Amino acid sequence: MKEIYRELADAIFPNIEKDYRYYIDYYKDKREKNKVVTRFAPSPTGFMHTGGLYTAIVNQSYAKQNDGTFYLRIEDTDQARKLENGVSEIIDTLNDFDISFDEGPINENEDKGGYAPYRQSQRKEIYMAFAKEFIMQGKAYPCFCTKEELDEIRQKQIESGSSIIGYAGVWAKYRELPVEEALKRVKAGEDYVIRLKSPVTESKKIMVEDVVRGKIEMEDNYIDIVIIKGDGLPTYHFAHVVDDYLMGTTIVIRADEWLPSLPLHLQMFKMLDLNPPKYAHICPILKMDGQSKRKLSKRKDPEGRAGYYIEMGYPVVAVKEYLINLINSRFEIWREQNPLLSYKDFDIKLEDMSKSGALFDMKKLENVSKRIIKNMPDDEVFDLVKAWSKDHDKELYQKIMQDETRFLNSITIWHKNRMDVACFSEIKSQFNYLYDDDFVESLEKCDMMDMPYFSDILEDYLDGLDLGVEQSVWFDRVRQIAGKYNYAIRPKDFKNNPSQYNGSIVEVSTFIRLALTGRKDSPDIFEISKFIGIDEVKNRINRQIELAEK
Ligand code: GLU
Repeated sequence: MKEIYRELADAIFPNIEKDYRYYIDYYKDKREKNKVVTRFAPSPTGFMHTGGLYTAIVNQSYAKQNDGTFYLRIEDTDQARKLENGVSEIIDTLNDFDISFDEGPINENEDKGGYAPYRQSQRKEIYMAFAKEFIMQGKAYPCFCTKEELDEIRQKQIESGSSIIGYAGVWAKYRELPVEEALKRVKAGEDYVIRLKSPVTESKKIMVEDVVRGKIEMEDNYIDIVIIKGDGLPTYHFAHVVDDYLMGTTIVIRADEWLPSLPLHLQMFKMLDLNPPKYAHICPILKMDGQSKRKLSKRKDPEGRAGYYIEMGYPVVAVKEYLINLINSRFEIWREQNPLLSYKDFDIKLEDMSKSGALFDMKKLENVSKRIIKNMPDDEVFDLVKAWSKDHDKELYQKIMQDETRFLNSITIWHKNRMDVACFSEIKSQFNYLYDDDFVESLEKCDMMDMPYFSDILEDYLDGLDLGVEQSVWFDRVRQIAGKYNYAIRPKDFKNNPSQYNGSIVEVSTFIRLALTGRKDSPDIFEISKFIGIDEVKNRINRQIELAEK
């Protein structure tokens, strides 16, 4: 190593005394050997994207499946975009979705695990030690370009039809600046960033390997990218290489927006003479927008934000199951063969993941959720609704707390053999006839009121109504009333001879249902009646008669 390089490195990083090898040794063997290690590495810049949640689920599941370690790393080197309480926001969202990690930040200030600190803003000296090594080896250099100079370079590249666009090769103004000169300018206090001196200076293809996509031919990196910014913090690319090496990540599972950077990352591992991890780039979640597909957006699409599902009250298992289903084509078949197993028992094979893009379909998620809710025991639904309402619907929560048994009974009514509910925020409006004290006021005129004897039938029904009997006895009465007004007691008879009847027992039941629920379709009306009580039943039926006669 030339002494002048050391002098330059010392001038740039006067306070960095620890060699990069110190950190390599320090972080060595802090876990069991030969374990799979995955990580989730979000930036604390606001609400978590549904795609981020998806990446976290895949990383966690993959580690779990392989009896490995899953850790959380906070990538907060972009000081301008960093949000206050951003770390808690991430931890809370992961927590909401039952995603636990073995190591990483546990609140705004504390970390657990042997590789701490797990937030990049606290690892400045580590990146600097690595950058210092690069400078000493002549593999990185200070660049004093102003923004205007960079614009000028770009302009010239475009005008001259250069095949290279960017700060690279012969265009890289400070790449070949004599070290003595660079040293002088650093010492004079000029502003600069540190750039990688890419060993490649022109367009060249290489083969890279990705676990999801297999072998791919890509353009090698020839750009002298910034590795340390003016504020002394690293860029994503450099921090990724340093951290994923030191923290022992064995496979980097990340969004495929990073795939174009893979040659650069592999190049830096090679320049440091370190073994790279494996890479798996997972496809984005897409959404139909008119005729075309676009990326699901956390700003434009409510469902693009992970927190949306929690606020709406989708069971976490449903959201996770749908997301796994979304890009693993084998999942659907597996689910059919194993209807009762947890989605956690499904082995995620990275090789089988979608390579292009996964189309998000809210209807499908709703169906998954409805099926999952339907298969839960009543008391599990009760516990989930109670927990959800506590944070998201105070009024409902109060209602539950006033009489928990009554609320559980109401769940039994709408939950029995039905797939009506996809998320808990729907409950109050879908079953307003069970929960709304002023429900009667919402009853309206409807087309069925024009059918023969509508009011007479309801009046007869009210006359001597007894809910204390067996359901079969109650229904015999409904049949009798139907017969009296020439509505076929057996729907089949009406079907065969429609002109002979006014309708069938189905319509008669629907008259009652409409009065009690305002709907033509609902759970069992006998059970609903018992739940709301005889007085309220009378109240609603009288109101319906009144409306019919208006
Ligand atoms: N901080 C990066 C992001 O949020 C992480 C990418 C990675 O997983 O390496 O996109």
